[in-house]
Amino acid sequence: MARIKSDSYSIFIGSISENIIASGIDVSSYSSVFILVDENTHEHCWPHLMYSMSGLEHAEVIEIPSGEENKVLEICYHIWNTLSEVNADRKALMINLGGGVIGDMGGFAASTYKRGIDFIQIPTTLLSQVDASVGGKLGIDFEGYKNQIGVFNKPKAVFVDVSFLEILDERNMCSGFAEMLKHALIADAKQWEKLKQIKAVNAKQIARHISPAIKIKNTIVKKDFLEQNIRKTLNFGHTIGHAVESTFLNTPIPLLHGEAIAIGMAVETILSSKTGLSKPQQQEIFSVLKQHFSMIHIDEDVLQSILELIKQDKKNSHSTINCSLLTSIGNCAYDCVITEQEVVEAVKTYNTFI
Ligand code: NAD
Repeated sequence: MARIKSDSYSIFIGSISENIIASGIDVSSYSSVFILVDENTHEHCWPHLMYSMSGLEHAEVIEIPSGEENKVLEICYHIWNTLSEVNADRKALMINLGGGVIGDMGGFAASTYKRGIDFIQIPTTLLSQVDASVGGKLGIDFEGYKNQIGVFNKPKAVFVDVSFLEILDERNMCSGFAEMLKHALIADAKQWEKLKQIKAVNAKQIARHISPAIKIKNTIVKKDFLEQNIRKTLNFGHTIGHAVESTFLNTPIPLLHGEAIAIGMAVETILSSKTGLSKPQQQEIFSVLKQHFSMIHIDEDVLQSILELIKQDKKNSHSTINCSLLTSIGNCAYDCVITEQEVVEAVKTYNTFI
């Protein structure tokens, strides 16, 4: 059992039943309790939670369809509508039981319903355990743009129970591993050394690295909750990665978030020549990424779509492209200005490396 303190809430790691007691949260003190799930977490995770947490006998389960394509306004409307139809008041509690889609959208729905009700994050994918559930960024995609509508807001608590990962498929495990690699690359060279040894990304191999990954993110977010400065380093790989994810979202081959971020990190590793990342370190990062992710070829059409989407990125201002680039493994610079031409050149180089 471990407890990582954020500013107004804690992230509890370990068995949920023990941690609920340690947290002091009394679910029965709320006027009503809602559990947001998708069909997978309804089937696989809800029985475990119901068994582990008392006071959920009368909780209302809201099920939404799984997948990034459902992190949208229409589904959010459905959540607000359900709360409204049963007259949920401001003393209601929302428990988000699922991956990053459930956490981001459920946290957003809770933060905006009647100007905000309490919510708890119970992340059930590796990606949501090490990244999405920590730091209070909540929201939905809009008109094909990632996280276009959202808020910053803090949960009452986050409960990370690694046992949920036992039934998570390998593709989703790797997707979460991408964000763990990112955390190490931007802030912790020693952690990178450990992660680069991992050959198979499964719950057994990964479990002991979850807490360090959360600590890296939490330390950064505590210094800069509203992303005015150092929190921007967490966007390494995301300028290109979000554009890649959006481009492939409604195609027959949608990429998982971490898969798109892995491609984004590969391209931004090349761009990091600009901030002094050495060639040997670039090669080292590339070889680790290639070991775990299929690096798809970025053709001309995809590149044009990426360039269009980058212009909409919230990280950019006054028509310049801002991104976070590595200066060395374990160190990252933010507010680095890059040009469209540099992106085009980096993508060309990326295509020759894969
Ligand atoms: P996801 O929520 O879509 O979950 C992936 C799949 O795993 C889904 O099909 C889900 O039903 C299933 N699943 C969940 N838990 C399971 C379990 N224990 N066993 C079996 N299947 C399970 O995707 P994700 O990768 O968790 O999250 C991606 C989202 O997170 C993206 O929308 C991304 O933008 C967001 N994100 C947010 C932040 C943030 O700071 N808020 C950070 C990183 C990513």
